[in-house]
Formats: sequence, C-alpha cells, structure tokens
Amino acid sequence: NKIINVLDVPFYNVTFNEMVNTLTNRIQSNQKTFVVTANPEIVMHAYENDDYMQMVRQADFVTPDGVGILIGAKILNNYIKERVTGFDMTMELLNRANEHQWKVYLLGGKEETNEKAVTNIKIQFPNLNLIGHHHGYFNWEDKQIQKEIQQLQPDIVLVALGFPRQEKWIYENLNEFTKGIFIGVGGSIDVLAG
Ligand code: UDP
Repeated sequence: NKIINVLDVPFYNVTFNEMVNTLTNRIQSNQKTFVVTANPEIVMHAYENDDYMQMVRQADFVTPDGVGILIGAKILNNYIKERVTGFDMTMELLNRANEHQWKVYLLGGKEETNEKAVTNIKIQFPNLNLIGHHHGYFNWEDKQIQKEIQQLQPDIVLVALGFPRQEKWIYENLNEFTKGIFIGVGGSIDVLAG
C-alpha cells in the first residue's frame, strides 16, 4: 500500500524520483492531476479544519513536504521513504518542462514577484513554454483567470497563493480544466523571484 496516513492526511509514499516520474507520465497522457505538498503546518490545519481536510483528501497525490512529516509518521510507527518537497518538485518539473517543451502557467505571488519569477524561469529554462502568468491577488468570483487557463491548456500550473488558499482554489476550479498538473507550491515563487 502506497498510502500512509498522518493525522488522516493520506501521503503517497514513493521516492522523489518516482513521484516526478508519475507526474511526467500523467502529463504525457494528459491526465488532470491535483497535487498537495503538505508540510506539518498544512497537516495540522487539515486536522483542525474539516473543510480543508476534505479538499486535501480530494488530491490525487499528497507529498511529504519536509522532514517533519517523516518524523511525525515515524512516531505513529509508519515509515515514509523520503521527503518530496514543493520546492524540489517545482524545480524538477521546470527542468523536465524545459526538456520536453511543456506548457507552464505561473499563478500567484505579488505582481512584482510574479514578473520576476517569470523572467528568471525564462532565463534558467529557455526551452519551456511559459504560456501565461498572473499575480495571486485577484477576485476569485470573476472567472477570467480560470477561462484563460482553460483556453491555454497548460501542462503544469504552479499555484502559489499560500496555504490554504492554493488548495482551495485548485479544489474549487479543477472541474473547469481538462488537463494539467495543478500543484500548490506556496513560497516557491518567492525563491524563484530571487
Ligand atoms: N499569495 C498570493 N495571494 C494571496 C496570498 C498570498 O499570491 O492572496 C502569495 C504570496 O505573495 C507569496 C506566496 O503566496 O508569494 C506564499 O505566501 P505565504 O508566505 O503567505 O504562504 P505560505 O508560504 O505559508 O504558504
């Protein structure tokens, strides 16, 4: 069984490489995918907040974002292979996007942060197709961004709205999309912006 529960959060227990390979296969077969990279803060929030827990449990994959999750699992007599962090996955997905010329959409961060991250990604990964981007301070009711993503059909949508917003946004809008990896990547955009 590849699922290990930590306070009811179902972690997918594979190595980092296995996780990225799984996502690669899903991109190549156009399978829409919701990924939560859960750190201890996210687990605690889910444990204390049933609505958020339901969203997290709808994800196709929950990955252990940090060693704290491995330690928590161990205390509960469960062994998770290794950490699979949001930042490491973001960088490896961008690497592979560069290799395969996948289409990437970058959502989130302040306007300036988002622009800087786009510039840096284009420099570091010149062959990937950064087809669209938008800062993370928009009105969720006005469905303009959802429509744009619907039309562009990116292979990867990096959603950096901070938790729990990013998981909520993915959960609420996933039905509108036909393909793509939707992954909440929290503060990774700030690191990418430099
Ligand atoms: N963010 C956003 N929209 C919001 C709130 C936050 O785009 O409504 C961005 C914020 O600018 C930052 C990122 O989400 O780039 C992570 O935010 P934060 O550090 O608050 O969240 P955490 O790292 O704890 O997930």
